[in-house]
This record gives sequence, C-alpha cells and structure tokens, in this order.
Amino acid sequence: MSDPLVARMREFGTTIFAEMSALAARTGSINLGQGFPDTDGPPEMLERAVSAVRGGLNQYPPGPGVPELRQAVSEHRKDHYGLAYDPDGEILVTVGATEAVAASILALCEPGDEVIAFEPYYDSYAASVALAGAVLRPVTLRPVEGRFTFDPAELRAAVGPRTRVILVNSPHNPTGTVLTRAELEEIALLCHEHSLVAVTDEVYEHLTFDGVEHIPLATLPGMRDRTVMISSAGKTFSVTGWKTGWVCAPPELVRAVQTVKQFLTFTAAAPWQLAVAHGLRHELGWVSSLRAGLQAKRDRLTAGLSAAGFDVYRPAGTYFVQTDIRPLGFTDGLALTRELPALAGVVAIPTQVFYAHPERGGHFVRFAFCKKDEVIDEAVSRLARLGGTGGGPG
Ligand SMILES: *Cc1c(COP(=O)(O)O)cnc(C)c1O
Repeated sequence: MSDPLVARMREFGTTIFAEMSALAARTGSINLGQGFPDTDGPPEMLERAVSAVRGGLNQYPPGPGVPELRQAVSEHRKDHYGLAYDPDGEILVTVGATEAVAASILALCEPGDEVIAFEPYYDSYAASVALAGAVLRPVTLRPVEGRFTFDPAELRAAVGPRTRVILVNSPHNPTGTVLTRAELEEIALLCHEHSLVAVTDEVYEHLTFDGVEHIPLATLPGMRDRTVMISSAGKTFSVTGWKTGWVCAPPELVRAVQTVKQFLTFTAAAPWQLAVAHGLRHELGWVSSLRAGLQAKRDRLTAGLSAAGFDVYRPAGTYFVQTDIRPLGFTDGLALTRELPALAGVVAIPTQVFYAHPERGGHFVRFAFCKKDEVIDEAVSRLARLGGTGGGPG
C-alpha cells in the first residue's frame, strides 16, 4: 500500500525523542535527551489529584475547564504579572501547551497564511503549522556573546502580506534564552505595525536563573489585546505527564481557540485540573525551590560539559543547555548523538532537528539537566572520556 499518511504530514515521521529514548533504553545509556524531570511534583498537589479521583470528579468537566482552575489561573496572572483575565471567557484550559499551540494555529490561520517562529523551535510548531496548511517562516536565533538571539532586521524581513501569527517561546527551548524587554519590544512593534497575533509559549515562565526575569509579551503596551498567552503545569510543577495547560487571551481570541479545541478533545481531564488549581494557589514556594535546584543542576552540567571539551552556552532558563561540539573535533550533531551511547553511554538531542534550516544547527547538541544530581554526575564522568577519543579530524 502507498503511504496512507496525508502529504502535508509526511516529513514528520517519528520524533527524535522516540528515536533517542529508544536508543538510551537499548544501550543502557543515561538519557539527557528528552526534557522530563526524574523527580515528582509537590506531594500535596499529587494528593489532590488522588482525592479528586476518589471523590468522584471523573466525568466531563466544562469545555473551558473547571472553574477552580480558571479562577486560580486568573489570580495567578494578576499577582504575578499584573494582568487581569476574566475566568469566564478569557481563560481556556487545554490538554497541555501542545494542544493550546495546535488549536491556536488551526484557529487563526487560513491555508497559505504565514506563521513566524524562531528556529530552533519546539518540534510541535512546524507540525501544527503544516496541519493548518499554513506556511512557517523561520527566523534563526544565533549566538551573540554567549547567548542566542535574533537579528531584528531579519525578523522584520520575515513579515509579509500573508503573515498572521508570530509564535514566541520564552524562556526558549532549546537555547535557554530568556527574551529581554528590548527584544520583546521589537516583536511587539511588528505585531502593532502588521496587525499580527502573538502566540506565546511560556511553559518555562517560572524556570529562570540568576535573577533573570521572565517578561510575558502580553505585559507590553497594547499587547494583551493581541496575544494568546500559553502556560502549562507540566514544567512548572514537574508533572509533564499530566498534560494540563491553559490559554489566556481576550474573549474573541479565546473563542476562536476554543472553537477548534472543543472538537479536538472537547475538554481536559478533570482530576489534574483540580490538582493544578491547588498548585497555583499553594505550591509556588515549592516552585521557587525547584528553580533554585535547577539552577544548581545547570551549573553542575555546564561545568561538566565544559570540562569534557564542549563549548557551552549557559542558559538563563528552561531545562536545557546548548553546546557546540566542534572543539571536540566533531561537526555533525546527529552523527555524534547516534554514536554517543557507544562513545560515552549518554544520550542527547541533535539540535539540528529543531531547524527548518538544519545546516544552521548542525554543530549544536542539547543536553537536559532536569535530572537527579547523581545522574548528572555520572553522565559528566562518562562524557569526560570524549576528550580522549579524538572525534573526527582535528
Ligand atoms: C515541554 C514543552 C511543551 C509541551 O507542554 P505540554 O504542556 O506538555 O503540552 C511546549 N512547549 C515547549 C517549549 C516545551 O518545552
């Protein structure tokens, strides 16, 4: 039989995470590939999910999400960012940030419309754009003085008559960049000039380091009215398997996203929503400790990777550190990550898979540090062998 998959999805075969996690399992390697923590979320929040299940909260919740969670999200936005969102009409609970991004693109883009996203990008973006029949216009983030950023002229040049949406992820996976106010102002200016909608993926909003502040694009002048702001409990509370996210936006944008979302999943699972409402109200202290712990893990892994011979880009947020493999004598990150289990018993992710122009990211490899200290230490001691292997030429 010829491939039954629709043509627009054929370039999206198995994800690199499936390939690399299988490789880790097969070879018994330490998996610093996929970004999920190996410790649990706040115990009382987990208990809240259990009691919701035992308490019979097991039927369809309302389409926009359980009222307790929408209320808690509204209060959290106000306390944290000074942004007022009405729990009735301006907040929509989704099946993770992934569904929120997909539903937003499907709701806002006609076939042929264009979506700007910064590459390297989270892998679901390109697939969501393709599903919508829209066209992705990537703008490349490049290292400047040790930090990945964009060229404002390049961003400006990417906007055309069909541009509808700019997709902004900050803190940024996989580079660890947290966009500055000046960078966000460039983006906001373009949104105003060209009537673009900003869709912001802020799943790492609480996971920034060294006192760097996450600034939601919606807090810039005039931007609340044209921004679909997306968050998730997965990274904030170390429960990536709960797939509970939410959208905050003006009523007409929420209505648009919900019109699509209701026919994808109708609603998100009830017990997690109640537990996440508890998390937003009572576990932000736990999140602060998580942030401090992650910062220490970042330092642990970056020190080890530097000692092993990688060039390391110190991330200001997220779970990930970006490395340049060329000082070790390697040039192709995909080839290296496929060899890495044999060379060092470690699995990582070749950053090139997150690019529309893979050649621009060929020499970068991403490592995750959201792992127990002993796991990071063992990985680092194994990677120290690499310096001696001589790699490729030079
Ligand atoms: C992990 C991640 C997501 C997925 O969030 P879910 O809530 O699990 O769907 C989305 N965007 C980025 C940048 C991520 O790293």
